[in-house]
Amino acid sequence: MSFDYDLIVIGAGSGGVRAARMAATYGAKVAVVEEFRVGGTCVIRGCVPKKLYVYASRFRDEFELAESFGWQVDASFDWPTLVAAKEKEITRLENAYATNLAKPGAEIIRDRAVVTGPNSVKLLKGDRELTTKYILVATGATPFIPDVPGRELGISSNEAFDLPELPKSILIEGGGYIAVEFATIFAGLGVDTTLVYRRDRLLRTFDKDMSDGLEFGLKARGIALRYNDGVAGLAKSADGVTVTFKSGDSASYSQVMFATGRTPNTDGLGLETAGVVLDGQKNIVVDAFSKTNVPSVYAVGDVTGRAQLTPVAIREGWYFAETLFNNNPLTVDHSLIPTAVFSEPEIGTVGLTEDEAVAQSGDVDVYLARFRPMANTLSDRQERVVIKLITEKDEGKVLGVHLLGPSSGEMIQMVAIAVGMGATKKDLDRTIALHPSAAEELVTFKSPSYSYRNGTKV
Ligand code: FAD
Repeated sequence: MSFDYDLIVIGAGSGGVRAARMAATYGAKVAVVEEFRVGGTCVIRGCVPKKLYVYASRFRDEFELAESFGWQVDASFDWPTLVAAKEKEITRLENAYATNLAKPGAEIIRDRAVVTGPNSVKLLKGDRELTTKYILVATGATPFIPDVPGRELGISSNEAFDLPELPKSILIEGGGYIAVEFATIFAGLGVDTTLVYRRDRLLRTFDKDMSDGLEFGLKARGIALRYNDGVAGLAKSADGVTVTFKSGDSASYSQVMFATGRTPNTDGLGLETAGVVLDGQKNIVVDAFSKTNVPSVYAVGDVTGRAQLTPVAIREGWYFAETLFNNNPLTVDHSLIPTAVFSEPEIGTVGLTEDEAVAQSGDVDVYLARFRPMANTLSDRQERVVIKLITEKDEGKVLGVHLLGPSSGEMIQMVAIAVGMGATKKDLDRTIALHPSAAEELVTFKSPSYSYRNGTKV
């Protein structure tokens, strides 16, 4: 049977672009259908603009610290300048992505795609049907907004990047990485910022010492925290939005942002017509090769709910293309994925948290250091760097590394190589320290701060 294409990719984001580019490089006839902008969430309204805004917001801390080193800084901030500069950069990246797709011959179709069968896709705007040997669904995820009265008065991260003006005050609901990153961005840019979260600690899947250190840092930057509470409803007020909280309190803010999770983009995609199975959260269920229960339909990235991170989507897209179009079957190892939270203070983490390590092994040693970063020692800033190493007992294998403080994201990327190679505490000890640095602490721990034996702290 002949098809219009060997592969139709739905979604030109991190996973889809990599898969399409590699498949085309290996000689496949490929079309990528994108309904919004090439580059997807990461480039257009995720990692890239987020990190640019993080840089912008961090100047506040730098200016404050600069004074302790003898500088006098008279600074002011202009939001439209940042938004315009960000737009220029993401447009450059968007064009680069489109060029990289075109080079090996992948065709970009600007439309919304709907699956109409195991080997067919319909373009809604173009009103035509295409046939294909394989379909790759790489449609990503979308912000989840709770179903509360007045929800349309709030924004999500999608809109936060392009607000016409910087709000005077903002309430952000959520306790995950997007919530805390945007809280530090807005606070750094001078916005009176409040975080509300239904639980009693931020980043609850992270090691508790990271959450605690983050809480200290957020409070030190003037961010108000409301735990065990949530938004019950929104109503328009004279100069913004009045929020009624679940606790019964109410308060007004210029802006309200929901950072309450992301749901996979599977609604209205026609997957049921092809018989593709979804899980209870509407993620596409795939095997280790990213294949769905329908042999011609594959899925990668956020839409599969495995790990909602760009490098993971890219790797899944790449290995999909290797497997199908280069006769080189590869599966992605989803363990030991390094993660950063670009809040202020920043967090970098890889491997097991203390609780996970104890639950898994029972016999672990914990090495913990807290100290003021050297850059702060000339000021009265009390914030501490936190460095935590979790190992198997008696200087065994490193199970987890958790860092909080400047450049933790950069550090953890390097540490992840050693952890992935199975490094032990002894391997770290053999490494000569680099002085003066915060990271040297990782290779100079003498004895455990505390240990667990048979799951009990000793
Ligand atoms: P996406 O990049 O979301 O691409 C999906 C594409 O499919 C979109 O362009 C969409 O328009 C298109 N699409 C959807 N449905 C259709 C359809 N029916 N027809 C045609 N096109 C369709 N990850 C990190 O690793 N580091 C970070 O620092 C980081 N920061 C983030 C910050 C924010 C605010 C957000 C929201 C996300 C962040 N992420 C980060 C996550 C990262 O952006 C995603 O994991 C990544 O983009 C997933 O790639 P993907 O290919 O699965 O989907």
